[in-house]
Amino acid sequence: LSERLQGAMTKIGKKGRITEADLKEMMREVRLALLEADVNFRVVKDFVKKVNERALGSDVLESLSPAQQVVKIVNEELTELMGGEQEPFLFSKKPPTVVMMVGLQGAGKTTTAGKLANYMKKRENKRPLLAAADVYRPAAIDQLQTIGKQLDFPVYQKGVEANPVAIAEEAVEEARMTGRDLVIIDTAGRLHVDELLMTELKNIKAAVQPDEILFTVDAMTGQDAVNVAKAFNEQLGITGVILTKLDGDTRGGSALSIRSVTGKPIKFTGQGEKLDDIEPFYPDRMASRILGMGDMLTLIERAQQDYDEVKAQEMADKIRENTFDFNDFIDQMDQVSNMGPIEDILKMIPGMSNWPGIDQVKVDPKDMAHMKAIVLSMTPEERENPEILSQSRRRRIAKGSARSLQEVNRMIKQFNESRKMMNKMSKGNFDGMEGLLGN
Ligand code: GDP
Ligand code: MG
Repeated sequence: LSERLQGAMTKIGKKGRITEADLKEMMREVRLALLEADVNFRVVKDFVKKVNERALGSDVLESLSPAQQVVKIVNEELTELMGGEQEPFLFSKKPPTVVMMVGLQGAGKTTTAGKLANYMKKRENKRPLLAAADVYRPAAIDQLQTIGKQLDFPVYQKGVEANPVAIAEEAVEEARMTGRDLVIIDTAGRLHVDELLMTELKNIKAAVQPDEILFTVDAMTGQDAVNVAKAFNEQLGITGVILTKLDGDTRGGSALSIRSVTGKPIKFTGQGEKLDDIEPFYPDRMASRILGMGDMLTLIERAQQDYDEVKAQEMADKIRENTFDFNDFIDQMDQVSNMGPIEDILKMIPGMSNWPGIDQVKVDPKDMAHMKAIVLSMTPEERENPEILSQSRRRRIAKGSARSLQEVNRMIKQFNESRKMMNKMSKGNFDGMEGLLGN
């Protein structure tokens, strides 16, 4: 999705001013990009119409940065399409809160039941109980018990002979008696939507009157995810959606369609196999991600608040001209350390959020201090011309900064690599971006 849009933006961004024909061309790219991302064609049609009307209705064509304006509109409308605001989780006024996980086989119900319990304990101080109402495969009960053990939550189960409706009811009763204020019921799934499954789920629903019925769906199934969501909602009445395996789906098209097709909000997303890999769903962040800008807009806002704008423009120019040197590096380090943890900032840079391992990145403030010490041990000449850093100079710097030679080498290598990358970014796909930073 992003490549197409970025391409269109770059073209227009260079023009400064755009005509109605340019806008049309851009809308065509937006349409194609959304269709490629597997967004439902009806949703796309309405969406493009809306963006177009807004763009024509406002003074986009007259503005000095039309491409950014259009991107902003696209971003806002994408956010709107996904519900605008983050939807709150529905807790019962009379505990326990009862949650039913529903969905097809392999969607991630059992895993997500554990993730959700984990999240609710950490963030909402809840005391969860898990209920094993998927009685068709012994492995399903084992799986939930393993998760329960891992997280130290009780799992209510009665083996494979028991009736799922009875299990659900008894689990709620058990929670009441043992002071558990959240019951998460893991239910069975099938490969396809079928009568039998729906009847069973309806019976459980009638018996325990859940506060949340969370339809869990694999984001990688694209259009199919939307159809299945529609069927579950029509037949069972869901309260929300959990989109799993978003770590594997970079297009995110289903996130866009599901909300507008079912009218039900996405409440959480699954981002990996670990029990910590769950996040509340924020429509605005998802919109930026779909636009391929990471949380670029947030980053820009933050940058504009905390970052001296003139400096930012200077930096952008230097990056483009490839004259970014160690003095700038130090400057930037100082600026950036006022903006919040580096690892958060890294994730907001376009493309970076999809890098494998980016979640593991931890930047120790101590490392920053060491890097700074190394740079400060360079002569002004060396800082301006990193190319002259010979081995003997590096040895001197290592001594001066009380760091090892390996560390000095590593840091210079990193500097050169990031310089290369920044330069590429500023020239390539993200041509429009440094303009955004500047104004
Ligand atoms: P269920 O049949 O609906 O209960 O699905 P499971 O919870 O058993 O999950 C099926 C598979 O998907 C398992 O291998 C999970 O580890 C995996 N899975 C679930 N959620 C995610 C996710 O968010 N990301 C990734 N990468 N894998 C997931
Ligand atoms: Mg399961």
